[in-house]
Amino acid sequence: MKKLTALLMGTAMVLSLAACGGSASSAASSEAASSEAASSEETSEAAAEETTDEAAGEVTTVNAGKLTMSTNAAFPPYEMTTDSGDFEGIDIEVAGAIAEKLGLELQVDDMDFDAALLAAQSGKSDMVMAGVTVTDERQKVMDFSDTYAEGIQSIIVPEDSDIASADDLAGKIIGTQRGTTGYIYCTDDFGEDSVVAYDDGLTAVQALNNGQVDAVVIDNAPAKEFVAANPGLKILDAAYAQEDYAIGVAKGNTELLNAINGALEELQADGTLQSIVDKYIKAE
Ligand code: GLN
Repeated sequence: MKKLTALLMGTAMVLSLAACGGSASSAASSEAASSEAASSEETSEAAAEETTDEAAGEVTTVNAGKLTMSTNAAFPPYEMTTDSGDFEGIDIEVAGAIAEKLGLELQVDDMDFDAALLAAQSGKSDMVMAGVTVTDERQKVMDFSDTYAEGIQSIIVPEDSDIASADDLAGKIIGTQRGTTGYIYCTDDFGEDSVVAYDDGLTAVQALNNGQVDAVVIDNAPAKEFVAANPGLKILDAAYAQEDYAIGVAKGNTELLNAINGALEELQADGTLQSIVDKYIKAE
């Protein structure tokens, strides 16, 4: 059970974001991103923000003028739908900010998580942003941006459960979301017969509520939201796995990857990334 060993990092969602940078740069960047004319002032801005301006308007995308993001909008607070059917969440807003920097319009394509990975992998979307964990296996079939957040695989159990740690999952039935690292780790550690794969995290949690599974293994941030909405459940203090989230693109699409990384770097430096995270994840 290799996954179970080095994982006692605690339950806090920690984001590896540098909180620095000046307030003036965000105005300059959005100007640069939307620039049409090449005045001398804009040219000097361009020189100062080489990455962005090189990328702007020059990146080839699946749909011209658009940055198409595949996702699974059932993963709060990273991606979800509002009552009126709009998309919102950390990934949606970060993707919007990246698109703006690249002079593109964000298009969100909602589908199952495994399909969202495949869409980016096969070039049907430009990128997948879905709280995607970087793994060695996935790196064989797609390229990843720099990490923009850290994730934790958490274990949800009923409040009166006798499961107190990951080791106690042995011999139990575990609910997961299909295609996720939670599913992969649990089948590796406990065997396929012990793991049920559901379409999304909420369905897995409902199965836990109904007593169809003994525990659910899922990313900590959605776990907190699902537990808050379902009385009688709790998240174990000990984490199951520690992970990095990144944006996935088709293997070899270095032009887009460099543009995304350039934009991410600027969004991190000017505090945009942190402020988006703070909007959706309240400090504990
Ligand atoms: N972080 C997990 C993974 O990449 C789950 C992501 C998700 O369910 N959206 O497998």
